[in-house]
Amino acid sequence: MKEHLNIAIDGPSGAGKSTLAKALAQQLNIRYLDTGAMYRAMALFAIRSGVSVSDEPALKEILQDADIRVIYNERGQRVLLCGEDVTDGLRTQELAMGASTVSTHPCVRQKLAELQREVGRNYDVVMDGRDITTNVLPHTKHKFFVTASPEVRAERRLKELRARGNAEETLDRVLADIKARDHQDSSRAYMPLRKTDDSLLIDTSEMTVEEALNTLIHAINEKEAL
Ligand code: C5P
Repeated sequence: MKEHLNIAIDGPSGAGKSTLAKALAQQLNIRYLDTGAMYRAMALFAIRSGVSVSDEPALKEILQDADIRVIYNERGQRVLLCGEDVTDGLRTQELAMGASTVSTHPCVRQKLAELQREVGRNYDVVMDGRDITTNVLPHTKHKFFVTASPEVRAERRLKELRARGNAEETLDRVLADIKARDHQDSSRAYMPLRKTDDSLLIDTSEMTVEEALNTLIHAINEKEAL
């Protein structure tokens, strides 16, 4: 069986991972898998089922009915929850925090990580998330940890929210949310966000997207040539 090109990118929220991963996938003409969207869809499923995102026993019970699938069409990656395309409603602050909490439960992580590994087995793909280098694609040679200072990340997130028509958010609130999620994502007991020794660290605080993208492509080409 042909080994597929698997590129793993981890890092905290707002570091520019998804912008970079998307641009990289486009440049290499391969798929991009936004794994955070799958955790957001899981949080949405819990809310719709009337189950708290903190209630692990109740989550276990509804897990097998959580039919989360990722498809690709002319609009790019789409997330289907029980057959319904929920992609456009996933990027809210409520679902961001919900995803951060729901993703602390091993049963949820195991289910979604397995779906993600399957994509890696079948396609050339760039994946971004929090446990791609450590858990989903630990054997790939292309591993990156993309980060930026909390303040820079909060400003970027605020700009994104404003562009989506959300005028009420303030920088202080977004920064507080980012810090809360950083803490929850890095301190959870199971598969916390951490940089592996073999991941290349890219701090995008002072970089343009183009500079960061060039760094990634250069590193990938170097490893492919080995
Ligand atoms: O990347 P995004 O902000 O959409 O992710 C939402 C939340 O989902 C993160 O804060 C994190 O807690 C969780 N997540 C995760 N593992 C991934 C992707 C996302 O735990 N691979």
